[in-house]
Amino acid sequence: MKTSLRLIQIGGIPVEIHISWLFIFFLLSISLAQGYFPAVVEGLSTQTYWIAGILTTLVVFASVLTHELGHSFVAIREGIPIKGITLFIFGGVSQMEIEPPSPSAELKVTAAGPLTSLLIALAMGLIYFYLMPPGQIISQAVLLLAQINLVMAIFNLIPAFPLDGGRLFRSIAWLLTKNLVTATRVAVGLGSVLSFMVMGVGFMIIFFQGDLSGLWLIFIGWLIYQAGQSSYSQLVYKETFSGMKVSELMSTNLETISPDATLDELADHFLHHKFGAFPVVYGSTIHGLVSLRNMKDIPREKWSETKVHGILTPLKDTLVLKPDADAADVMKKMAELDAGRALVMENDKLVGLLSRTDMMRYMKMHIALDSK
Ligand SMILES: [Zn+2]
Repeated sequence: MKTSLRLIQIGGIPVEIHISWLFIFFLLSISLAQGYFPAVVEGLSTQTYWIAGILTTLVVFASVLTHELGHSFVAIREGIPIKGITLFIFGGVSQMEIEPPSPSAELKVTAAGPLTSLLIALAMGLIYFYLMPPGQIISQAVLLLAQINLVMAIFNLIPAFPLDGGRLFRSIAWLLTKNLVTATRVAVGLGSVLSFMVMGVGFMIIFFQGDLSGLWLIFIGWLIYQAGQSSYSQLVYKETFSGMKVSELMSTNLETISPDATLDELADHFLHHKFGAFPVVYGSTIHGLVSLRNMKDIPREKWSETKVHGILTPLKDTLVLKPDADAADVMKKMAELDAGRALVMENDKLVGLLSRTDMMRYMKMHIALDSK
């Protein structure tokens, strides 16, 4: 399912909004039009409150976008290509095609975002104090926008990777350790501690004050935790498997089994070859994959009468790869799908089997040899 809508292009950078942003758009417009504005400026028409609510929300949206453009333009100047900007529920992401080449590049790229938000906050603040008539709805809107941009800058500076503050922390750790993977691990570690603290505060608000708004903190903490973990493992996959193809990691020592074999025969096959799974093949037709996991729910007394084709994972539910697929991408995909194994096929012919355990083993070996 496509979850982002393409909006515009700014300076050659495509801008997309994630569907979660539409939800925030409604929520913010409603709470401004029905809650905030009627409370700070009384006695205006419902229509006026709605116009003010929607316009303010649009400027908030533009502020988040400007923050991301701040990151993106500095990134391009530092030689990092930008795939695009996606605006999410709590902000945006500038998708860099590569990791920053140096700690100082990361520092500059990262600082540009919060600095942009601070500048917008300052500009809005000055407009409010010097140009706005007091007590008008537009003055309240400008004041609110100054506050929101200030909060955006401060929130992003929380040192929880991958928030901007966490990236700043990583760039300093990178400068000190001279190792991007180590620096990322430290930054993600700090980020995890902070995100669990945020979730803890959320739980306390729910239990001690009976206030369900604590759920938001749990949600935000969880999002940050997840984002940190996944950016760390992606970096490790990239570092480990950079430039490698599936064909270099797959095992070509293929033992197959017929779909007509019984589970008794399958059990012998497992014990004899000591593999965790077999492609199920009859003639030149590949039916799927059978692993120990498929066998475990079948009681032993049924083994002689049950055939492999009754328990296998069919080809359509099996991850199938091309031998020249990028190994780092495949590792990410296997983790996302929680797939233990994949069949490697070329022109409908089985050429290999790739297991996640083998890839993990290779990764551990790589890390061990790399740290020497
Ligand atoms: Zn940012």
